[in-house]
Amino acid sequence: SERLLEIRKLCVDYGLGDEAVHAVREVDLTLHRGEVLGLAGESGSGKSTLAYGLTRLLPPPGVVSGGQVVYHPADGPPVDVLSMTPAQLRAFRWAETSIVFQGAMNSLNPVHRISTQLLDVIKAHEPRITPEPRLARARELLRLVGISADRLDSYPHQLSGGMRQRVMIAMALALEPQIVIMDEPTTALDVVMQRQILGQLAELRGRLGFAVLFITHDLSLLVEFSDRIAIMYGGRIVEEAPAAELYHRALHPYTEGLLHSFPALRGPRRELTGIPGAPPDLRAMPGGCAFHPRCPRAFTPCDSRIPLLGPPADGDPGRAVACWLHPAAEAVTR
Ligand code: ATP
Ligand code: MG
Repeated sequence: SERLLEIRKLCVDYGLGDEAVHAVREVDLTLHRGEVLGLAGESGSGKSTLAYGLTRLLPPPGVVSGGQVVYHPADGPPVDVLSMTPAQLRAFRWAETSIVFQGAMNSLNPVHRISTQLLDVIKAHEPRITPEPRLARARELLRLVGISADRLDSYPHQLSGGMRQRVMIAMALALEPQIVIMDEPTTALDVVMQRQILGQLAELRGRLGFAVLFITHDLSLLVEFSDRIAIMYGGRIVEEAPAAELYHRALHPYTEGLLHSFPALRGPRRELTGIPGAPPDLRAMPGGCAFHPRCPRAFTPCDSRIPLLGPPADGDPGRAVACWLHPAAEAVTR
């Protein structure tokens, strides 16, 4: 399938020099046109930092310290998001990418009705649209995200958290983006609500054609609703695979651990074990593979050499893993 956004060797730090925390480390990830790509990993693994970095919305002291983010427009040559001028960047963010960030539902203006806020976005996107079709469009957008049009007159506080989040998605869709990035909060929305939202997004992209990057700590959601899944640990992507393949046969021991942290979707019940130990401290990363201190299958090279993302031992071209059990992974010593 066609490449839409290529993240190449992206590095993001918080702070500078010796003080810098390397939160995203040489991440390679490609989003294809029209797909749902899920990104999962424990808290602190760098998921949000990656999303902020690739859209250049990093709050200080965050800095992109390396890499490229190449966007392939439907018409015209590819562009590097990281070297766009501020004007190009605004246009890109506005027209091509919509981002619904962690806690975005709280960014609705409490003193304005939903209608006012939605109509404003539509007007900004289509300045020549007259009031009547504009209202029709607002109703249509709400309907798309599963909210009845009579909610247009509500104020944000009259809606549940999940509804507010869906209003934010409706506003994002008003811009007819190529890419929708959703960074789901661990705490603010329950998993039932996340499931509804992701299910709706996955269905909508079929009709509207956008691609989705969906970020969550909940891998079971991604298994159900995404086409491909990338797993992040200690700032790196450690495994990437089509969702069904990842679920049926995880290659990285960390992915295996994550999968055993939630009940099986179907088939025989699995024992729930979770992953012992805690995620790494970015200021004091273990040598070698960041996961090795928690890994039940660590062996000789794991504590001294960092495995990079590469093809698995069986050569499956659709998958990639960063683990010494799959020695095709290129080595780095650091
Ligand atoms: P969660 O699932 O909790 O949202 P996450 O995977 O999105 O986690 P990030 O928020 O991207 O993780 O954070 C990645 C790492 O960067 C964490 O270790 C965090 O402590 C660190 N970090 C985030 N913001 C800053 C900051 N402003 N200054 C220093 N370190 C930061
Ligand atoms: Mg986050």
